[in-house]
Amino acid sequence: MKFCSECGSANLVLRKTNHDTHSRYTCADCEKIFYHNPKVIAGCIVEHENKYLMCQRAIKPRTGTWTLPAGFMECGETVEQAAQREVWEETGAQIEIIAPYSIFSVPQINEVYIMFRAKLEAFTDEPGPETLAAELLSAEQIPWDNIFYPAIKDILQRYIAEKEQGTFGMYMGCSDEGIVHFMQ
Ligand SMILES: [Zn+2]
Repeated sequence: MKFCSECGSANLVLRKTNHDTHSRYTCADCEKIFYHNPKVIAGCIVEHENKYLMCQRAIKPRTGTWTLPAGFMECGETVEQAAQREVWEETGAQIEIIAPYSIFSVPQINEVYIMFRAKLEAFTDEPGPETLAAELLSAEQIPWDNIFYPAIKDILQRYIAEKEQGTFGMYMGCSDEGIVHFMQ
């Protein structure tokens, strides 16, 4: 940023105050501090009759790969509402959220993924423009070699294995240097 959004000054400096862990752009004229924080991405594993709702991406990055419906949370909504809205935008489906399943941080790009377990209620609309195709796929039908991001593949494989065992856990994890970790 070049100008203070509060007073219009170009006199912005990077400054770290006592009791703060990070340097912040601060307006030297009006003292406004500009915080830069991670974005939350909310989404769902939507299950229906032993199939999983997946989207083929119409947008970059990695156009054509398959992923779980998920997207950036908007201001003014809860994380559950964000997950429901993103599922609807990307697949046209109405869903019911069951429980949180995975919280996954990607600190290199300042993103946090919160994924829920959910069940399908109905398809009410067409998929939106960010999706080439939205389909319910069985474990055998999922294109495992063409998944958007390693953590998405991990989450889905874990879910399917747990479903067969009959108990779902809840997971947190992170990605560092391209390696995906989930803690048990
Ligand atoms: Zn200012």
